[in-house]
Amino acid sequence: MATSILLVDNDQQLTALVKSLLGGRGHEVTHFESGKEAIDSLSKKKPDLIVVSEQLADIDGVGWIIKLRQVNRDTKVVFISSKWRDTDLYQQLTKDFGVSLVVHRPLKPLLFGAQIDGELKAKTASELNEGSDTETFLQLKTRFASILPGRLKNMEEIVEHSIDNPEDREALKEVRRLSHNLKGTASSCGFHHLGETAAQIEQTMDDVIDGKKTLDKNTWDTIHRLVGVLRENAKQDFPHDLPPAPEARGDWLSENDSSMANVLLVGKYSEGETKKFAQKAIVRLIFSQDPKDAIEKAKATTLDAAIIDMSDMTTDTSLELALKLRSLPGCETLPLAFIHTDEIVARRTEGMHAGASLYLKKPVKDQDMVQAIEYLIALRGRPRILIVDDDEDFTRIIESALGKESMLVKSVNEPDKALSILEDFSPDLLLLDVMMPNTSGYDVCRKIRAQARWQDLPIVFLTAQSGLDSRLAAFDAGADDYLPKPVATVELLARVRVRLDRMRLMKERADRDILTGLLLRRAFVESLSALHAEAERHKLEFSLCLIDVDHFKKVNDTYGHMAGDRVLSHFGQLIRRRFRVEDLRGRWGGEEFIMAFRHEGKETMKGALNRVLDELVTISFTGDHNEEFFVSFSGGLVSFPQDGEEIEKLIKKADERLYIAKEQGRRRIISEG
Ligand code: GH3
Ligand code: MG
Ligand code: MG
Repeated sequence: MATSILLVDNDQQLTALVKSLLGGRGHEVTHFESGKEAIDSLSKKKPDLIVVSEQLADIDGVGWIIKLRQVNRDTKVVFISSKWRDTDLYQQLTKDFGVSLVVHRPLKPLLFGAQIDGELKAKTASELNEGSDTETFLQLKTRFASILPGRLKNMEEIVEHSIDNPEDREALKEVRRLSHNLKGTASSCGFHHLGETAAQIEQTMDDVIDGKKTLDKNTWDTIHRLVGVLRENAKQDFPHDLPPAPEARGDWLSENDSSMANVLLVGKYSEGETKKFAQKAIVRLIFSQDPKDAIEKAKATTLDAAIIDMSDMTTDTSLELALKLRSLPGCETLPLAFIHTDEIVARRTEGMHAGASLYLKKPVKDQDMVQAIEYLIALRGRPRILIVDDDEDFTRIIESALGKESMLVKSVNEPDKALSILEDFSPDLLLLDVMMPNTSGYDVCRKIRAQARWQDLPIVFLTAQSGLDSRLAAFDAGADDYLPKPVATVELLARVRVRLDRMRLMKERADRDILTGLLLRRAFVESLSALHAEAERHKLEFSLCLIDVDHFKKVNDTYGHMAGDRVLSHFGQLIRRRFRVEDLRGRWGGEEFIMAFRHEGKETMKGALNRVLDELVTISFTGDHNEEFFVSFSGGLVSFPQDGEEIEKLIKKADERLYIAKEQGRRRIISEG
């Protein structure tokens, strides 16, 4: 069903642009110039989303939103502002009037489309089931339960010591720090009473720091009483049916550390061996002894890579397993390695076709195995999140929550290291705490934004300070978003996902062809240039293939244009699943495709491409009137540096060979002449 969007705006140019942008994406757009008519229309039909601009025929946009909220509280609103508005208004719109998104003119069409899609997908707060105790959440609570007694004891000791030495400023700072962290962590874990009491302690300490209170025995008595309340809260807040707290911290870590990638290892290994690999490579190894079981396990997790030991099964079984893994949803370009016997060397083309990026010869040394795992993981792009916060318990909570959503999370507890780790880890999004020892998140943020490389990095502040001043400071420092601690894990996830989706969509929209899912010509050439430069530098070969679907005009003419599109889409899927992650696949235009194979010569690739051709010709397509038909392709294959040293020359040569393939009767790959 089409999504209905109500557009309220008085500017013809903007109306035309928004209508064509959103209409073109399949949304049903209803437009009003008058604010009054738009409000009246709501009694007849409630839209899925409202887009309102700065100036309407009878009222200004902000005034209209205020009126709207008197009759409608929950429909999502996107506000198009004509100029860059101050942060105050921004805060008012988003906080008080529930505006989900403020965009500025001139609109960037691609971005705006992606943003609207993001808003439509993002759930409203009431739709997010915040209270549900998921398994993760229970684990977090358990974890919190296990650290809380130590925290309380620590605080009590300091307070008791201070009652007799009331002037101790260091004690003041330490209690402030402990209560500040406790406030954030407790509330994020759902222990609201505890969080509130901790906040009271923090406030008392702040009053002393601000000179509103003196640091004397009285103050410490108050704190002592509040710590007593904390103890009471702790008793009340903990449900008795919590699972027992894990003993050692180490266990908890290895089970839940979300910065770990999931790697499937299929073969006959002992538990000791797999543990050793996992520990050394810092990954979670999902281990299976047999192909059927491996597929089941792969379905149950988000895999980052797979390693198949062929010595325990026939070569056919292992190749089949690789193809099956690749056909699972989300695994189209799963990085794969084979641990081989000599046979696969002779059948290298089949390995290439099945997508193996690496071959390791048995017996594999521990170090080689670890390196292989690391190489494979590097090939796979999971969203990478860096979190900078001095509170270790808090970062662990966030790590765990985001890690469960198959994001790769890394924590930095010392803000001084933030910049260098940013370089190494190269995150897609940064979560940043404001109050940290020796520095503030604002400063860290400014330093990061000063570097050209990080100007587009989404930065979200997470902080227990919640005044308007700190919100403004966050935006001034260059943040994209702001989440007050205590942060509800569900809300954090939603916000992070929206940010990541926006970035990814922007990139995908710009780089990928919608019909086939392959790189567009420009993006392909960019990646090819990088591959070419690398090959030149390291004196390595690579091959390149131009492919053209045979008699495609006839397919369109006979079976319909839609059927033609289905062929292109299916072929795109097929070549995405075949070959290795690091190989490049693009849509060159129309029914022409282009691929580049890293570090690989023509001979192997010709074999692998012929296997794809054999696959394609057996696929039965259906015409617009249910007729069955089949298609084939022709290809021209070249390799660097044999057939040419420059990209242009290579492509030209590939095109000539493609022509020869057509001349010779199609349905073939030509790699000579
Ligand atoms: P040959 O075997 O020599 O390549 O013959 P051909 O018919 O495939 O080649 P030709 O270049 O004459 O025709 C290509 C056709 O592909 C013409 C064009 O309408 C069609 N085409 C290009 N892009 C698309 C598309 O996105 N979808 C569909 N359905 N058809 C497309
Ligand atoms: Mg053509
Ligand atoms: Mg053609």
